[in-house]
Amino acid sequence: MAKFIKEPAREIPVRAEVDVLVVGGGPAGLMAAQSAALVPGTSVMLIENRGSLGGNMTQGLPLLGFLGRKGNEVIKGLPLKFVERLRERGQATHHRACPLHVSLTMIDPEGTKLLAWEIMEECGVKVLMYVMFVDAIVEDGKIKGVIIESKKGREAILAKTVIDCTGDGDVAFRAGVPMAYGNEKGIAQPPTLMFSMRGVDSRKLRDAVADHPEIYDIDFIPNEFFRSDDNCTMVGFRNQIKQAREAGYKLPVERTIFMTGMAPDEWWVNMSRVNGIDATDPEQYTRGEEVCIKQNAEIVRYLKAYIPGFENAYMDRVAPFMGIRETRRIIGEYVLTEQDIFDCARFPDAIGVAAYPVDLHHPVGGDCTLMWCPDCYDIPYRSLVPQKVDGLLCAGRNISATHLALASVRVMGPAMCLGEAAGKAAALSVKAGVEPRALDVAKLQDALRAEGVYFRD
Ligand SMILES: Cc1cc2nc3c(=O)[nH]c(=O)nc-3n(C[C@H](O)[C@H](O)[C@H](O)COP(=O)(O)OP(=O)(O)OC[C@H]3O[C@@H](n4cnc5c(N)ncnc54)[C@H](O)[C@@H]3O)c2cc1C
Repeated sequence: MAKFIKEPAREIPVRAEVDVLVVGGGPAGLMAAQSAALVPGTSVMLIENRGSLGGNMTQGLPLLGFLGRKGNEVIKGLPLKFVERLRERGQATHHRACPLHVSLTMIDPEGTKLLAWEIMEECGVKVLMYVMFVDAIVEDGKIKGVIIESKKGREAILAKTVIDCTGDGDVAFRAGVPMAYGNEKGIAQPPTLMFSMRGVDSRKLRDAVADHPEIYDIDFIPNEFFRSDDNCTMVGFRNQIKQAREAGYKLPVERTIFMTGMAPDEWWVNMSRVNGIDATDPEQYTRGEEVCIKQNAEIVRYLKAYIPGFENAYMDRVAPFMGIRETRRIIGEYVLTEQDIFDCARFPDAIGVAAYPVDLHHPVGGDCTLMWCPDCYDIPYRSLVPQKVDGLLCAGRNISATHLALASVRVMGPAMCLGEAAGKAAALSVKAGVEPRALDVAKLQDALRAEGVYFRD
């Protein structure tokens, strides 16, 4: 039986008052803050509970979703400008078309953190780190600001519009927005703690895979694809997992997954997984971190023993935190569905386009399924607008979508696109003195077009 105590009411200081407050500095939050701040006269603050900007962009993951299935760029606007600036510094690759993941754009995590700071400074966003959003201030169904906790204690930040980019829908949940979680059984996609290996003989790996498809099975993509030095994600080696398991290795996944890093001998490994974790519960998140770090030690042993080119490799960097694929999502004015994705749906209130497949790491078991749309689909503005609560928009992996649709739209290309739209919508709503749900979407679309966002004709 849970035990409770009564917390006495108290006065807390107001730290800041702004037009637009963005909670969470991941790919969605960064774009939201920049986009809002680019509307002249808009004061913007971004709060982040970690010590760096970028969220999952700091995990060694490639940006997915920039190209559509026809090879055209579908994510443009501010996200593309971000990538182009990294590229000028040699810290991002081109978008490589990929038969499995449609496209991959490798980025340097440290360069990403620095550029994020530079952009926030350039556009005048006030950044506050090491503060945790803990509660929403809601009056008469409208959010008026948030409560944060830090070493300073509890403080308030008042805002005309708040954008929830926490990934977990923390703000929306606290504000009383109806939420969904995971699949129909309430189970979410599993988390993973990424790590990199250096000292990989990449030539040996690539040639072995290309020369010996009978030994090294690769999911979906012909083995020859991997011969070139270009960036890639290798998914497969199911034979090797099977052999290793028969030899007593304890591996949590059915297939091996690793991808190129920015250095020629560097590969990032995406293989730990803990099923059934609810990452909004600290005890479960803690257990997940513990399980993943132990799994990764075994995975390193496996890679060195079974994958050609890894014999002399070593673990180099570990992602700063276990990555969360899915927790809560809002129920908004529209719930994006997998059918919308497969139908390449068009919406009159489109705020951008996404093309990434439904990429589902099974909530149970150790496998993954990908399902593609033929081209690309619109993302409707209504899926960023929560039901019931005014003064609030949501972007990133907590938008209004089904479990399967989220498995597509959650990746970083679309997350950045959603952020840009939410930021612009928030600033334009403040300017027009209307609630985000009442915003003139045509004006929003014009502003996004002017910033270079891609729309289908
Ligand atoms: C293991 C793994 C592999 C993935 N692989 C890929 C891939 O290869 N390519 C790809 O494009 N996508 C990939 N994804 C998906 C993608 O990384 C995320 O869905 C995407 O980053 C979502 O962006 P976001 O901005 O919504 O959330 P996040 O990137 O999670 O950012 C949220 C930010 O909000 C902050 N925050 C959260 N709560 C609070 C709070 N209460 N107060 C203050 N700050 C808070 C967090 O610290 C974080 O910085 C992967 C995800 C995982 C977990």
